[in-house]
Amino acid sequence: MLVDVLRCPGCERGSLRAERAGYICSQCSAGFPVIGGAAWLFRDPRGAAGEGRGRLTLIANEVARLALTILQEYASAQRKIKDTKNAPEATQDAARQLKILMPRDFIAQAPWAQLQHFARYLKAITVRLDKYRADPARDAARMKELQPLEQRYWRLVAERKGQQDARMQEFRWMLEELRVGLYAQELKTPMPVSVKRLQKIWESRPR
Ligand SMILES: [Zn+2]
Repeated sequence: MLVDVLRCPGCERGSLRAERAGYICSQCSAGFPVIGGAAWLFRDPRGAAGEGRGRLTLIANEVARLALTILQEYASAQRKIKDTKNAPEATQDAARQLKILMPRDFIAQAPWAQLQHFARYLKAITVRLDKYRADPARDAARMKELQPLEQRYWRLVAERKGQQDARMQEFRWMLEELRVGLYAQELKTPMPVSVKRLQKIWESRPR
């Protein structure tokens, strides 16, 4: 499961398959060794045993630990979406959020700093749907507040053919934090978020 999301740092195309002695790339067949119980991923795997250690790009066991936590929350959120009946709008919204947040190569796509927050984003989906039954109208009201902001953002991303500057990217993660704030406040957000605050940030962005 984990090797599925680790991309080969050599060719950046293949996925990594576990072998007895380490990991093998499915595309370029580069091998990556396991040293001291941890997989070491080098851009040039042939240098891995010698002076190439200086070219270390990723220590896989750290990535692995984080990826495992994320994938566990991902599985819980997926299960929760599937098991939540009679809430078509909330579950569709959550499924859409999940799909955007977790492409197959999310480990390679998301900035490392942002990956630290993924488990919380995913847990917020589970918490939201846990609470849904107690007050469906509240969930619908929050969705109505959130959607115009998200739509404006994704429309601009589409207009720019996916090109995003640092501010746009920052806003994208603030939208994720806003979801935590609206649906799962107990999970806490690292900065204050509200619909009003995000509206303000959006309107004051340079164009
Ligand atoms: Zn490769």
